[in-house]
Amino acid sequence: MLEKYDLHSHSIASDGTLTPTELMQRAHNQGVTTIALTDHDTTDGLQEAQQAASSLDLRLINGIELSAIHQHQCLHILGLNIDPQHPVLSQGIARQQQTRAERALKIAEKLEKKQIPGAYAAVTQAAGKGEVTRSHFADFLLANGYVASQQEAFDRYLSKGKPAFVPTIWAELAEVVEWITVAGGIAVLAHPLRYNLSYKWLSRMLPVFKELGGQGIEVINARSSEDEMRVSRQFAEKYQLYASVGSDFHSPDNQWVELGRLPELPKTMQPVWDLF
Ligand code: AMP
Ligand code: MN
Ligand code: MN
Ligand code: MN
Repeated sequence: MLEKYDLHSHSIASDGTLTPTELMQRAHNQGVTTIALTDHDTTDGLQEAQQAASSLDLRLINGIELSAIHQHQCLHILGLNIDPQHPVLSQGIARQQQTRAERALKIAEKLEKKQIPGAYAAVTQAAGKGEVTRSHFADFLLANGYVASQQEAFDRYLSKGKPAFVPTIWAELAEVVEWITVAGGIAVLAHPLRYNLSYKWLSRMLPVFKELGGQGIEVINARSSEDEMRVSRQFAEKYQLYASVGSDFHSPDNQWVELGRLPELPKTMQPVWDLF
């Protein structure tokens, strides 16, 4: 059987719109044979995903996408093939969730100052038991007519330097990589060219990431351009990092991103799944 990997996806446990069961079903329908569920700062969707995957003959890799800080910059680190029950990781996740909850309140306060009331109640209701993300705020702004698109919500309110941006004290990169590796997982830098960071900055950070125990870099992502993928490949080769492949799927509403619909990894690259 032809193997198809998708190692980056989201469910309603964070800012995705599908339940873990629906996500597994969709992945299977798209011909994916190995999927990682990587919700933002939570592993709550994994148990349900595992049940669904087992009944579909789909291989689930337990994953997470942790927010981290390195030299005042926020980076997203995927933890692949983690033990979600590991106490060190669980404690780290609890801390991140506390940070997320406090940040949501602060974002809502900032929106109120801009004469936009009711955000906190709306985002917590929308997130339910899941983690509140800026995507929830973007949806709220869109649904209430303050903006015409999710993108505009980020551009006008939620991105760095905009009125409702809250500089967030996520855990340090060193801590996040430690939690992942202690829990038996592989730390992978997600979407390296989506942070607006210079080539030089990334070239300094990657050896540090590796020194800390980071092993992989996302070389192929559904939202990357050819150029971005080429640069990511160069980073992987230069710093001898394993290559990861993932759609970063959030919702069927985004017609540009589909589970498993990804360019193939060049045969010369060392895939991260060699480590599973
Ligand atoms: P958070 O981790 O709460 O800061 O939320 C980050 C999430 O917001 C990302 O994972 C994306 O899903 C979404 N996001 C970030 N920037 C944008 C953007 N410019 N347009 C649309 N969605 C975005
Ligand atoms: Mn997201
Ligand atoms: Mn991300
Ligand atoms: Mn993601």
